[in-house]
Amino acid sequence: MIDIRVLGSGREVGRSAILIDTGTEKLLFDYGIEVQDMGVPKMPPLNLDGVFISHAHLDHSGLAPQLYAAGYEGRTFMTSATRDISYELLKDSLHVQKKKGIRPHFLPAHINVMEENTKIIENGEGVSIGKSKISLESSGHIPGSSQTILETKNDKLLYTADIKFIDTQLMSGAHTEFDDVKTIISESTYSYTDHPDRKSLEDRLREIAQETLYNNGILLLPAFAVGRTQELLLILSDLGFPIVMDGMGIEITEKILMHPDSIRDADKLASAFSEAGKARRDSQRASVLQEPCIIITTSGMMNGGPISYYMKHLHKRKDCAIVQTGFQVEGTVGRVFKDTGRYVTNGLDVNSHMKYDFLDFSAHTDRSHLIEFYKKLNPENIVLVHGDHAEDFAAELREEHGFNASAPANGEKINV
Ligand SMILES: [Zn+2]
Ligand SMILES: [Zn+2]
Repeated sequence: MIDIRVLGSGREVGRSAILIDTGTEKLLFDYGIEVQDMGVPKMPPLNLDGVFISHAHLDHSGLAPQLYAAGYEGRTFMTSATRDISYELLKDSLHVQKKKGIRPHFLPAHINVMEENTKIIENGEGVSIGKSKISLESSGHIPGSSQTILETKNDKLLYTADIKFIDTQLMSGAHTEFDDVKTIISESTYSYTDHPDRKSLEDRLREIAQETLYNNGILLLPAFAVGRTQELLLILSDLGFPIVMDGMGIEITEKILMHPDSIRDADKLASAFSEAGKARRDSQRASVLQEPCIIITTSGMMNGGPISYYMKHLHKRKDCAIVQTGFQVEGTVGRVFKDTGRYVTNGLDVNSHMKYDFLDFSAHTDRSHLIEFYKKLNPENIVLVHGDHAEDFAAELREEHGFNASAPANGEKINV
């Protein structure tokens, strides 16, 4: 018997935190923060036997240093790529917390304490803690991302974390060869819909790039630093157009290239990255705007970062285009832009005259692939987390597919 207590990400996307009690070991899978409003999960007991971080995104890793601030003294396990990328994001998140005027949840010193207590397990490897064996397998979501597998004498539990089954330009699809899984704790971000065909999305993006640059315009791509920046770079790199990168995506790409096994084709990314221009200062940005080019820059939801500079200078230009390629959370500058075409930030409120498109290059799987995965593994129990529609999906899995599926609320405990 295993107790699963959802501390965060119950019926919501954000602040993943799942407490597992095997009867002999207490383990914590992820400890994330709600990125937009900085919401925190419930606090776990601090006598944990181990913390496992599935990937670097802050909704999974963002509060792990707080455990050490609160007095946790044990180990945190993750892949080496997750370690290197998450430390960049954690440091950046402290700046953001400061900027938003929020009392920081931990200090830079706690990131260091976590680093000292981090034990690396790569995907395909495992560790024994007491009577439990925990291993990691790739989840195909971003470089370094893992699924976590827990085995005890009588039970086998799989936590998908964020998962993508198909190959993308950057990532190979998730590992799916599992035997005898009794319980799946599954993300359900896109349980309500299917994504458009990936290949046609890529073709459409290349078309927009060609149309824009042949017209002497600039194509502006706001992109998340981890995963999306590199994916867009790979999709567009062989068109022969000048590409300029700006913002945190540059440092993150360097980190990713230090872990060539975490991606599909490190040589291709390395050469696309070395060919791309890098803008770091406003003087460089000003000269980037002189010629037709593709600009890939943070932040992905347009809330800050160098995208502000480019929007200020490009919003009036009808010959330029902007394409959003990722989910825009309610309340962000990017969401307002998507819904209204207005760019509203820092005292600026302007209508954009640039051509606009939204292309859904999600790093999460979708509804059909989730159902296919459950049917393949045929577990006794499915526990849905990390989705705004988790309850509806659980009902559907019970009624139409005969699974014992549930979608616990935060704080709720399930015994499997
Ligand atoms: Zn993620
Ligand atoms: Zn997530």
